[in-house]
Formats: sequence, C-alpha cells, structure tokens
Amino acid sequence: MTQPQVQAKRTETLPKGNFDAVIVGAGFAGLYMLHRLREMGFKARVLEAGSGVGGTWYWNRYPGARCDVESVQYSFQFSDALQQDWDWSERYAAQPELLAYANHVADRFDLRRDIQFNTRVSRASFDETAGRWVIETGDGARVTATHCIMATGCLSSPNMPAFKGLETFAGERYHTGYWPHENIDFTGKRVAMIGTGSSAVQSIPIIAGQAKQLFVFQRTPNYAIPAHNAPLTPQYRRAIKADYAGLRERARKNMTGIDFDYSDAAALETPPDERAREYETRWQRGGLSFLGAYKDLMVDQAANDTAAEFVRAKIREKVRDARVAELLAPKNTIGCKRLCIDIGYYETFNRPNVSLVDVSESGIEAITQQGVKVEGREYKVDAIVFATGFDAMTGALLKIDIRGKGGLSLREKWREGPRTYLGLGMAGFPNLFTITGPGSPSVLTNMLPTIEQHVDWIADCLGYLRDHGLARIEPSEQAEQDWGAHVGELAGRTLRYTCGSWYLGVNIPGKPRVFMPYIGGFPRYIEKCSEVAGKGYEGFLLG
Ligand code: FAD
Ligand code: NAP
Repeated sequence: MTQPQVQAKRTETLPKGNFDAVIVGAGFAGLYMLHRLREMGFKARVLEAGSGVGGTWYWNRYPGARCDVESVQYSFQFSDALQQDWDWSERYAAQPELLAYANHVADRFDLRRDIQFNTRVSRASFDETAGRWVIETGDGARVTATHCIMATGCLSSPNMPAFKGLETFAGERYHTGYWPHENIDFTGKRVAMIGTGSSAVQSIPIIAGQAKQLFVFQRTPNYAIPAHNAPLTPQYRRAIKADYAGLRERARKNMTGIDFDYSDAAALETPPDERAREYETRWQRGGLSFLGAYKDLMVDQAANDTAAEFVRAKIREKVRDARVAELLAPKNTIGCKRLCIDIGYYETFNRPNVSLVDVSESGIEAITQQGVKVEGREYKVDAIVFATGFDAMTGALLKIDIRGKGGLSLREKWREGPRTYLGLGMAGFPNLFTITGPGSPSVLTNMLPTIEQHVDWIADCLGYLRDHGLARIEPSEQAEQDWGAHVGELAGRTLRYTCGSWYLGVNIPGKPRVFMPYIGGFPRYIEKCSEVAGKGYEGFLLG
C-alpha cells in the first residue's frame, strides 16, 4: 500500500508529568476538546497519529473528496468570530479547503503547542491505585492523565478486505481513507476501483477523467443524489453570516442537526403526481435533504419505495446503456445505507473508458500480479483504488488496547457489540470519555455540531468534578444497560435496520451485528444529556 510519508516518522518524545487530560486524536473533536479544556485552566495534551491536524480531512485526500453537509453548516459555531471571519468558497467544500479550515482553527486558537504529532496510541490502562490513565505508544513511551478522552473518530480506521493475492499485485495500490500526500495522477493508466460507496462515488468521475481505462468493481449499488455544487456568492455568504445564530438554532431542532426543510407530510398520503413534484424539487435542489421529503420514508417500506423508484428512474434517464443503468440502480431501501451526494457520478458510466464490473454474485475472486480477477477473467490494471470503507465507530477505539478497572479489556466488554452510556462513557472505565462514541447520534447527524455538543458536555463534566472535589466518574452498569436497550429499540423501528450497512458493522467480517449510532435524533439526545448533567450526572457513579 502506498502510504502517506508521515507514517515513517518516529513517535515524538512524550512529555513527563501527569496531565488533567490526554486527548487521543487531532481531528475536529480533538481540536475543540483541547481548546475547551485549556480555556478552563486544565492541563491537556493531544496525541495524534498523523503529522498534522484535521483527522478525516488529513487522511482522506482522494480525488473529489468533499463534505456532503453544506460547508456553512459543516463548521464550528463555538466562536462567532471564527464563523464570521471564515469564507467557504463552495456549497460543499473540497478536502484541501476543509483541511485548511482545520489548520486555521489550530493556529487561530494556538492549539499546536499542546498537540503531539506522529504519535499513535497503542494502549491505555487505568491505574486504580493512582487513579490515572497510563497512555502508551507502540514504542513503549508513556504518559499519564487523570482523564483520557478518545477523539479517535467514527470513520478513521480504514477497512482493507483480505482479498486473496493482495500482496502479489505489482502495480500501485491506494486506499481512499489513507491517501498519499503527493499528487497522484492516473493519466494514461488503467485503473481498478473497488467499491461504490460515498468515497468511490466522489472519486470515480475524477479518476475517469484522467485514466486511460477505469474498471469499477461493484458489489452493491448505492443511491446518489446530485450535489449541484457551486461557488458561494458574496451575497449568499453575507446573508448566512447576518443570521448565523438563527441557522444554528434551527439546525439544533432538526433530527440530523442540519438546517433543511423536513416535511411533516406522509408519502403514502400524498397523491402520486404531487409526490413526484416534491421529489423533483428536492432532486433539483440537491443534497441530503432529499430524504426529508416525507416523514414516513425511513419507517414505512412502501413509502420508501416511492422515493427509491424516483431515483432509479433518474438513473435510467442518465445512463445510456440500459444494462449498465439496471446494474447501477439499487434495489434496497433508499437511506438504509448512507445516501451518496454526487457530481456527475452516473453520467461517468457513459464514457467509453469506463466499465462497470458486477461482482454482486461472485465477489472478487483474487487480486493478481497484474490486476483483478472476477469469474475467471483477469482485468489488467496499473493501479488499484480500494474505496472499501471503514471499520466504523468501534474500529479506532478497539485498535487501542483499552483496559479499565481490574484490567477489564474493552475488546472483551464489546465482544457482542459496543455498550456505552450515551456514547460518552463505559461502565468499568472510570474517567474515560468517547467523543461521538457508539450509542450517540454521531454519524446520523452533521458531525460538527454533534462533536461540539459532546465536547461541551465533557468539559462541563470535568468542571463539575473539579468544583465538587470529585476524582472519578463512570457510568453505572444499569444506566449503560438501559441506554443500550433504548438505542436498540429505536433502531429496530426504522428501515435502517434492513440492509448490510456499516452502521450495523456488517461490512467487517466477524463484527457483531449491532446498530451502533443513536437514531432518536439530535434534539432528543441533547435533551437527555442536559437532563443527566442537570441531575448531578444521573446514571454515573461519582467518587
Ligand atoms: P477524525 O476526523 O476521524 O479524527 C480522528 C483522529 O484521531 C485522526 O486524526 C486519527 O489519526 C486519530 N487517531 C485515531 N486513533 C488514534 C490512535 N490510536 N493514536 C493517535 N491518534 C489516533 N461528516 C459530516 O457530518 N459531514 C460530512 O460531509 C462528512 N464527510 C465525510 C467524508 C469522508 C471522506 C469521511 C471519511 C467522513 C466524513 N464525515 C462527514 C465524518 C467525519 O469523520 C466527521 O465529520 C469528522 O471529521 C470527525 O471528526 P473527529 O475529530 O471526530 O474524527
Ligand atoms: P462504504 O460506504 O463502506 O463503501 C465501501 C464500498 O466498498 C462498498 O461499495 C462496498 O460494497 C465495497 N466493498 C467493501 N468490501 C468489499 C469487497 N470485499 N469486495 C467488493 N466490494 C467491497 O465506504 P466509503 O465510501 O468510504 O464511505 C464510508 C462513509 O464515510 C460514508 O458512508 C460517509 O458517512 C462517509 N463519507 C462521506 C463522504 C461525503 O460525501 N462527504 C465521502 C466519503 C465518505 P458493499 O456495499 O457491498 O459492502
């Protein structure tokens, strides 16, 4: 695998002395956590595996990478000066701009002096006698802290399937979630793309524009809604900034933490022609709000079918070869897997240099020295791009050997699936917090406000402990069990439970099938977190 050069660097020397908090990860979550804790006078340190800040936007440098929540909303709101000063150039900012934004935040709030780069945490264990976390890196260096905060990301552990023959391939290999820092140009090359999720949907049109030949290996087609991406005009930016507080407030009241119009109408109670007009309006507007058209789309299969059929018809219109169009048209529930937002994805399959290879029945037989083999046919290529996703939500956490009271291993505790209280902490792991952990709304929402809400909650909690002379906090077993049951019960009611998505862990062989994010919506979740804090951290054991 071609790896970012940063990986070759050695772990920096870890500082001596005990910290109030060690934060693992310098994505948006780690950056804001550090800022909050420092503001409160806590001594905090961030440990980050990469050589720079930005997390997702540091690692995912593949061609076409950009956000699918509009930039003006996929941004921090904790500092009004920041949101007033920063100008987003496009409706959906591309990776370089998002990375520049993360760097700007780090510089603006002078965060770098407390971030240690090129430092991958391999183990974190709770020393019960000292009441401290001992955080270790692969080369045996260690640092201690009263609190350990995992800001390790929900989509930060790339999934590389164990393809037969993978190591024999003689050409270039890339994973979208682990893209090299130098410019990769596929001009004149034969390229294989494995996967058709959001990362592939974004990169395929661009790679197709460069490559001599692109083979797309598709196991399951995905629904993609047009982005209608465009530059943001100065007038638009001024209008947003004139009422940023209003926009944020409206967003907070929506299930997904995004300000867009959710309808209260039901698809099945709407006449077909009116329904078609509504879908067309949203299709023309573009973006994730397509699924906000009707309130029953994610709970009633017949309602969902109306939206799914609308998109399938659009695919048939866009793709000239009827056989290819049929292969690209998903048959499963729309929105069950995360909706993709595209720029010219389906049209790319009209290009003479692009071929779709259906592997839904046979799978990929092997990777060979010269390419990819499917049903006995070898597709010879110069480069393979693996857009095969992530070991989501639990992957990055479980890569670290986390040990709580009595040496309790998190890997052991989560053997049957993740168990948390509010996605913020785990019974048996005192003073350990997870930002956007499993059991929180996280990946079902606009993640920037979700991250801010978690960080604020954790910061307030540490302030409370300090003010009350308390040294420890951990969820009770009962609170954790009750929350897990609630998360599972809500998930079982929606259609999101009906397909093999990464929300359920189905993309990783052997991973327990558990719906990991909290589906009750952002407002309900905020209310619950506030209630817990307001009642002196109800459900947590303090000592
Ligand atoms: P991350 O950004 O993932 O950062 C985690 C950091 O922790 C990484 O830098 C990683 O190196 C570090 N780390 C992990 N383990 C260790 C360890 N053991 N030791 C040291 N460091 C470690 N969400 C949206 O809401 N809207 C979008 O439009 C959107 N687009 C996305 C596009 C892509 C391509 C991907 C992959 C995800 C996208 N997401 C989006 C989700 C995105 O992950 C979040 O929005 C957000 O960036 C997460 O920030 P974070 O700080 O929690 O995690
Ligand atoms: P993904 O959605 O999990 O897609 C992975 C793709 O690889 C799927 O098509 C999958 O097929 C295929 N695949 C995996 N293993 C395979 C195998 N052994 N053989 C053949 N095909 C295989 O991953 P992703 O595209 O990286 O996206 C992950 C998430 O990151 C998104 O859902 C989204 O939340 C976020 N993201 C957002 C954006 C954005 O637009 N802002 C962009 C990228 C990512 P199956 O479906 O059959 O498993």
